[in-house]
Amino acid sequence: MMVLTKKMIEIRSILQRVGQSSTLTLPSIVVIGSQSSGKSSVLEAIVGHEFLPKGTNMVTRRPIELTLVNTPSSKEEYGEFPDLGLRRISDFSSIQRTLTELNMAVPDSECVSDDPIHLTVYSPNVPDLSLIDLPGYIQVVGQNQPLQLKQKITELCDKYIQAPNVILAISAADVDLANSTALRASRRVDPRGERTIGVITKMDLIDPIRGASILNDQQYPLRLGYVGVVSRAPQSQGLFKKGPTNLLSAIAKQENAFFSSHPLEYGNEAGVNVGTTTLRKKLMHVLEQTMSSSLQSTSDAIRQELEEATYEFKVQYNDRPLSAESYLAESLDAFKHSFKQFAEEFGRPQMQELLKHELDQKVLDLLAARYWNKPIGDLVAAKPGLDNLADLPKAEPDSLYWHRQLDASTSALTKLGVGRLATTAVSSSIQGHIDSLVSNSTFASHPFAREAIMEAASTILNERFYSTSDQVENCIKPYKFDIDIEEREWSQGREHVGGVLKKELQDCETALKNLESNVGGRRKLKEVMTFVDKARKGDIVVEGDGRSGAGGFSAALLGKGREAVFLRDRADIIKMRLLAVKSKQCTTSKNKYYCPEVFLDAAATKLASTAVLFLNVELLSEFYYNFPRELDLRLGRHLSEEEIEKFAKEDPKIRRHLEVIRRKELLELVLGKMESLRQLEGLERDRQAAG
Ligand code: GDP
Repeated sequence: MMVLTKKMIEIRSILQRVGQSSTLTLPSIVVIGSQSSGKSSVLEAIVGHEFLPKGTNMVTRRPIELTLVNTPSSKEEYGEFPDLGLRRISDFSSIQRTLTELNMAVPDSECVSDDPIHLTVYSPNVPDLSLIDLPGYIQVVGQNQPLQLKQKITELCDKYIQAPNVILAISAADVDLANSTALRASRRVDPRGERTIGVITKMDLIDPIRGASILNDQQYPLRLGYVGVVSRAPQSQGLFKKGPTNLLSAIAKQENAFFSSHPLEYGNEAGVNVGTTTLRKKLMHVLEQTMSSSLQSTSDAIRQELEEATYEFKVQYNDRPLSAESYLAESLDAFKHSFKQFAEEFGRPQMQELLKHELDQKVLDLLAARYWNKPIGDLVAAKPGLDNLADLPKAEPDSLYWHRQLDASTSALTKLGVGRLATTAVSSSIQGHIDSLVSNSTFASHPFAREAIMEAASTILNERFYSTSDQVENCIKPYKFDIDIEEREWSQGREHVGGVLKKELQDCETALKNLESNVGGRRKLKEVMTFVDKARKGDIVVEGDGRSGAGGFSAALLGKGREAVFLRDRADIIKMRLLAVKSKQCTTSKNKYYCPEVFLDAAATKLASTAVLFLNVELLSEFYYNFPRELDLRLGRHLSEEEIEKFAKEDPKIRRHLEVIRRKELLELVLGKMESLRQLEGLERDRQAAG
């Protein structure tokens, strides 16, 4: 006997995790009584500790679902608020403070809340019980209390005193039972008095003869009877001796002294129930009985919920199993797989292309600054009589001027900080790729994981950044002094730079077209350009700087005109240079001063391939080795169960899926436990019948 309540209490706490209404179908003892009837004193006497909020104003505003767990093999006594994550509070005044705060948090406008506070007390001195403390009934609404308070308390209590709960109706002995609000409320829902226990407090305040007659329940008979108690904490307890067993034994002593001093009325012969110890036993017994008789209906209710959960799982999720861990592990595996694929596709050739493209842009800038910086007309004018082609970089390959131009350009190219440029380019390309891998993975809908992954990538890349760029810079150092281009390299450069120039030419032409449509047509643009040309040659004098417009053109239009002229000149030059590069003179590196485009392109290719060799060793291989490990660190086994759960639930679809599975599992677990309890009960009954 008496294992049932303990088991059922365990089951109740599992059901609470299911988060369904089923908790209410497990019977509890609901404690009701008017304010000052001694309700708190009774509860504290049962627990053996002062832990309930005290005060003149109404202090209980939320139901307290109090679970007592008997721990016979431990000396420790402590309370826990599972919903708040507060564990093992062994100082009961701290429990009292928490309860007070939780109650006070209910705003005055709401009066009372039906959201219960869950408190579990573990102790070798408590019986296994499940009690619900409710706000005390009030007779008259106080000055500072809202008018609907009385009504709201009644409604809240009515909700809890429904079957199968046991009602513990507290009434003070010094108040006529006819006026007991608790008994009146109980009679409304339990008219035959079958599941109500009457507790008469303050027995010390009335004449024993009258006391005995109340307990004999002649007036309002209850099948479970009445128990008389004197449960006020004895004064001698004072502030100094609030020890747990002290309150228990002090009350027992006090009650003993009182009841045994009236043996006629309260003694064994009198046939009445008195004392907190008797009350505790009665509560255990009644709860056990109630639990036993509600086993069937509770099982049925749970089975029904389980069927619903199973159905939902089938219909919505195709019976597909899932756990937060497996979801994370699968997501991580899939991500690592896609990373591996990326790693196979992104290697030296891809880095080479990437770097070469960066350097191509730098080469174009250098060419523009050193060679293409004059309008064609000027270049032609510098050497009248020769055709345009012969006149750009150089018709006189031996001229010192053009030698210096090429040397300076080469030097600028090798000294532009290739180490940093290359490392930055590769790093940000890797990061971009990782970002798009994440976007195409299940992690896309998990901000936490996305951040962890991006951080993993940037941590490794940042760690390697300075050493890599230094290494790269070091290994291209020889090129700062001399670049030797072989004929094969030369012809590759010639081929390649042709493409670059064509692309640049296209870009200029597209930009020109855009300008045309921007100013309202080709003719309009031509007009402005003609004006700008004339002004540049000095054929037209423009007053001031033309900022407020000139020649009938607005300043904005003139700006566009200048841009167009620049683009046109650039396109003209590039066309000529394209011809030059294609010409016979540029087929050999001997004419490098005449063909700076080809030379610089070949030089850039050399720089890029040397850089790539080191980037591959210093950055890429390191990254490919470390990244999956870093992922494991951040998203693998180091995450706690809660973190994994939190991660998985970031995706609402996964959250719902997990919740259905969890509900189903918990309900199955509970049902299994209930079944074995019922079997146990059956055996017990058979045994009793046989005995
Ligand atoms: P609640 O408002 O119903 O929770 O009642 P309390 O437990 O706070 O008790 C109200 C008052 O009655 C307090 O002053 C208690 O000390 C007092 N009281 C409670 N039980 C007894 C008792 O058995 N005997 C006497 N004399 N006073 C009691």
